[in-house]
Amino acid sequence: VLDRLAALAADALQDLRARGLRVAGTAVALPGLTDPEAGVLLVAPNLGWGEVPVVDELRARLREPGLPLMIDNEANLAALAELWLGAGRGLRDFLHVSGEIGVGAGVVLGGELWRGARGFGGELGHLTVEPDGRPCACGSRGCLETRAGLDALLAAAGVASREELQTRAEAGDAGALEALREAGRWLGVACGSAANLLDLEAIVLGGAYAPMADWLAEGMQEELELRVLGSRWGVPLVVPAALGQEAAVRGAAALVLRRVLDDPAALAEAPA
Ligand SMILES: [Zn+2]
Repeated sequence: VLDRLAALAADALQDLRARGLRVAGTAVALPGLTDPEAGVLLVAPNLGWGEVPVVDELRARLREPGLPLMIDNEANLAALAELWLGAGRGLRDFLHVSGEIGVGAGVVLGGELWRGARGFGGELGHLTVEPDGRPCACGSRGCLETRAGLDALLAAAGVASREELQTRAEAGDAGALEALREAGRWLGVACGSAANLLDLEAIVLGGAYAPMADWLAEGMQEELELRVLGSRWGVPLVVPAALGQEAAVRGAAALVLRRVLDDPAALAEAPA
């Protein structure tokens, strides 16, 4: 995987330089807990990866000693992209929930991405929604992603792919709609707890959830109305992400750009 990623990155760098553009840096969005300072992917349960020094591995393959290489969690990068460029513009307190095989979230509080003490925050997919529920890839039980992750959703609908699920839902297939509503309810259970804790304005549904947001929102709204203490004064809005599948990539690009804006001298000193 890293060989292929390095080959893609080398092609992209060559292409950009051929067009006379200067490359300010690169950032990789990873589906797991990361240590951005050390450049290490600590654990990614759904990839079966643990303790991979992604930055060193890529640096060895790319042979670009002066090029800034960064990593971050893909859910964090997607949340930053929605905050800066997408559905989160103008919002200060929201969750960006990305549905893939896992369920990740970026937590934005007071207009800033909140990372927690070690950068491990936002793992909404591993919030317990059923104490004695199904086993999860993380080693726990009853995590949200065992109910609302893409694999669980596709299995509940009896379909093989997200495209098939969407086609069936658009055609009004009862099984597909029920599976989406049920996944939405589980999302609402988890997001209701998050809303009680954090007093959120909105839940932004991204990744694979974005094109299915309308169907998921129905079950979510019901659970939020039921579970959020302050629901008399309103529950968080459930809105689709604006950037869809590209959000993590755009967030990675925006992260590099922000670093340049924060410290323009670093780019001037770096080799081209
Ligand atoms: Zn889990």
